[in-house]
Amino acid sequence: MNTTILHETGWAGPPAAVEPRLLEEVRCDVVVIGGGAGGMSAAIRLAENGADVVLVEARTLGWGASGRNAGYITNSIAADPEMLKYLLKPDRLQSLYRYAHNAVLFAEDAIERHGIECGHVKTGIVMAAVTNGQLRRARRIADVLSESGAHAEFVDGREAGLPDGFLGGVREGVGGTVNPGEFVLGLRAATIAAGVRVYEYTPARDVHDTGDGVTVLTPGGSVHADRALLMTNADTGSLSIAPKNIATPAYTSLLETEPITPELLDEIGWTSRAPMVSLHMIIENHRVTPRGTVVFGTRRVEAGRNPLPDRAPSRAVITDLIRGFGERFPGLGDVRFQSVWGGWISMSSTWLPAAGEASRNVLYSQACNGHGFAQAQYVGHMLAEHAGGAPRHDDLDAIWHGDKRFWPGLVSNPVLYAGWLADRTADRLSALVGRTGTADHG
Ligand SMILES: Cc1cc2nc3c(=O)[nH]c(=O)nc-3n(C[C@H](O)[C@H](O)[C@H](O)COP(=O)(O)OP(=O)(O)OC[C@H]3O[C@@H](n4cnc5c(N)ncnc54)[C@H](O)[C@@H]3O)c2cc1C
Repeated sequence: MNTTILHETGWAGPPAAVEPRLLEEVRCDVVVIGGGAGGMSAAIRLAENGADVVLVEARTLGWGASGRNAGYITNSIAADPEMLKYLLKPDRLQSLYRYAHNAVLFAEDAIERHGIECGHVKTGIVMAAVTNGQLRRARRIADVLSESGAHAEFVDGREAGLPDGFLGGVREGVGGTVNPGEFVLGLRAATIAAGVRVYEYTPARDVHDTGDGVTVLTPGGSVHADRALLMTNADTGSLSIAPKNIATPAYTSLLETEPITPELLDEIGWTSRAPMVSLHMIIENHRVTPRGTVVFGTRRVEAGRNPLPDRAPSRAVITDLIRGFGERFPGLGDVRFQSVWGGWISMSSTWLPAAGEASRNVLYSQACNGHGFAQAQYVGHMLAEHAGGAPRHDDLDAIWHGDKRFWPGLVSNPVLYAGWLADRTADRLSALVGRTGTADHG
């Protein structure tokens, strides 16, 4: 196996020049902690509204999940729609899907507004079924989503131009894909151009709410501000001001093939090149990139603890991804892999996005659960408005957690492994039924 394990990503290189570290005491109106897509989006909005903004980032802007994800702009939320229908009132569900839909529009608009070249295509995403059980579930999910006002429809695999073995699924009517590495470089440039005072390689070590303001301590200096936004995603639990049990960090990985010829992709039936996520308990994602490679990932997720270690995908995960790719795309058996990388997501105990108050002057965003590329940006923008004194937007209200406590999450390595095992067992059973010729094609 000659695959290169990347600590950066396969998407784009680091920024050409790094912003300074904070080596003094500074004052500002609002300090944003964490420069992912969420933190940058918040900082830009605050600056546009006339605030003096400082953004402190532990590495370089976009280094976290925002620059290393699969690049799907999706109107999905992580939690299972059927379960949500069972647990939530219809109007609550509708408001969640309205929020997710508007997040897609916001992210698409940000690409236009900031003129970011990032291979953006508006294809929609297919939640694709690889077993008959998943296909039946896809029909039910399509119903729940349409009842909840989400733009989504059931599609047949062949008609939707999905690869052989993908039977059909739910096509999201909005969204698409980007190169997230290029996107964060563009958003970083927009953040700097907006007048935000950016300090890179400047981790916040501690955040104190003094009642009349906030002090953020970093290794070389400090920031005093009226308010702070905590936009640190999976690292949030490292800061003592963060709400207890806010989320469990989980490490997810992506594998990238060498470029594949268009003829070969057509041959395996992937004529639409539609980006897909599977309907497994722990999803798989499969997409063609603008450079003709296929990025394939997730499937096996590993829980972590704060403070998070610096890490790369484990051998066990890489081996599983390669095996999974072979099972999903038998027609691409000769294709080789060029790189693999991963990143931390944060999983909330409810599997729902959340935002709220860590203390009087500190607001937080936890819009991740592996689906936050567009949502983190939108939440950052809405939190910025709110921090500036505006009433909460209806879409912020849809995910508002206020200062309530979080229940401890159930996500742990044994639970994640059980999910992976259940998915593989279902795959095997389906293959067995298929071989004995009793598959049902409905
Ligand atoms: C492999 C992978 C694939 C994914 N695929 C998708 C996808 O296709 N579509 C989708 O919607 N979502 C996807 N996600 C999730 C999505 O990337 C995240 O939900 C989203 O990017 C979160 O944005 P954020 O700004 O909240 O966090 P991040 O981008 O993680 O940014 C947080 C930033 O805070 C910084 N930081 C942390 N602690 C401190 C501190 N103490 N002081 C200063 N800075 C700090 C970090 O360095 C980081 O840059 C994926 C995630 C991963 C890892």
